[in-house]
Amino acid sequence: MHEVSLVRSLLEQVDRIVASQGGRAAVEVRVEVGPLSGVEPLLVKAAFTQLAGDETLVIDEVPLTAQCDSCHAEFELENFRFVCPDCDSRETSIVRGDAFRLMSVIVDVADEGDV
Ligand SMILES: [Zn+2]
Repeated sequence: MHEVSLVRSLLEQVDRIVASQGGRAAVEVRVEVGPLSGVEPLLVKAAFTQLAGDETLVIDEVPLTAQCDSCHAEFELENFRFVCPDCDSRETSIVRGDAFRLMSVIVDVADEGDV
């Protein structure tokens, strides 16, 4: 279950962000999971519940998106069909959907005096 080690390194990243902003803890952690990331969102959630503190995990499941190398159109891949809908080129590159990554962290900053 490699989601556990993924979540562990995710939380290390989150800790560094919290520390760099001088915050107390993370309130919300948002990640992006694509269909080609090899990551199962449900397992990520389970590992997060096990390893994290009180922060909320938000998982954005993004579609697999590619860009055409010839005309640079961006399109969502359906059924893993790597063909540009605009010019029928097969030379395409994945631009989104092949990764598990940290998108944003909302940090709880201890001093809220200026609100
Ligand atoms: Zn194209």
